[in-house]
Amino acid sequence: MIKVTLKGGDVREYENGTNLLDMAKSISEGLARNCLAADVNGETKEMNFVPESNCEVSFLTFNDENGRKAYRHTASHVLAQAIKRLYPNTKLAIGPAIEDGYYYDFEFETPITTGDFEKIEAEMKKIIKENIPLEKFELPRDEAIKFMKEKDEPYKVELIEDLPDDAVISFYKQGDFVDLCAGPHLMSTGKLKAIKLQSLAGAYWRGNEKNKMLSRIYGTAFPKQSELNAYLEKLEEAKKRDHNKIGRELGYFRTVDYIGQGLPIMLPKGARVLQLLQRFVEDEEQKRGYLLTKTPFLAKRDLYKISGHWDHYRDGMFVLGDPEAEGEVFALRPMTCPFQFQAYLADMRSYRDLPLRYNETSTLFRNEDSGEMHGLIRVRQFT
Ligand SMILES: [Zn+2]
Repeated sequence: MIKVTLKGGDVREYENGTNLLDMAKSISEGLARNCLAADVNGETKEMNFVPESNCEVSFLTFNDENGRKAYRHTASHVLAQAIKRLYPNTKLAIGPAIEDGYYYDFEFETPITTGDFEKIEAEMKKIIKENIPLEKFELPRDEAIKFMKEKDEPYKVELIEDLPDDAVISFYKQGDFVDLCAGPHLMSTGKLKAIKLQSLAGAYWRGNEKNKMLSRIYGTAFPKQSELNAYLEKLEEAKKRDHNKIGRELGYFRTVDYIGQGLPIMLPKGARVLQLLQRFVEDEEQKRGYLLTKTPFLAKRDLYKISGHWDHYRDGMFVLGDPEAEGEVFALRPMTCPFQFQAYLADMRSYRDLPLRYNETSTLFRNEDSGEMHGLIRVRQFT
């Protein structure tokens, strides 16, 4: 027998060899129906997993982040299977779950368009209806590489070759389809209910622009059609309120290609909003006992070496001067704390001085990747 501590502290005993699904069934049929995966000692496991010793288990439904991930990641396998059925010469790359959905990257022989989504969704629905079990198997590295070479999947071969020597190389088979994957997934495709393909975008293999551009299909999945509809409706509403669209239309800001991405020009209306916000914040801080400081926008790298930014955050900083050459090197500040700390160091301090509060409406500079910037949400200079 093994002892299983459930979320909430209940302890139950099960015969050795009992899998998670049967454990859930012993608690309630409803729980077993709604369970997508389970957390076993902090790791997400599939419902056919058999714990071999005493452990802590919490069952995951669609309300749990890791439950949703297993659900939507399984949908990505169904998408890949549908693609292979419809376009057999397509090469598979990767297909993770993401916030609110999933994607899968493919190399198509002939590029597809969103006009093909209906046909692909129909094939996905067929696969869901077929209720195909997902079966895990493992292969030693050499055989795994040979297996994917035979299937003519060069991206999968590359992924396996890059795995550490001691990595367990696992595959999941669902009917006529096999994918290299670490899991976890749902037990069968029939667990999926409402699916939707949302968009198509280009994506470089491994995010590197020197590599081939692949086609990324974004989709989502929900346990109920009504939940999917509500989500899609919310997206439409959010689109109408996208600040990046209406902020430009109303003349609050603009961007200029030869100034750069993430470096917006605040027009008079937008600048006035910033002014009012800044006054409000500074007055409020004054009232609450914060003391205003004004510190420089840049410093020698010596400061960032002390603060740790130079060693840990240099890729995110704008560096002025050649770090390899002799002479001073400066960097624009990505944070204000190393500077404000110098205000603290201006005097001998006693614990009686504490709490000591400084504030600064500080402008910061961060070298964001171009793919990460959107309107004013993520920019390279901000206050
Ligand atoms: Zn997978």
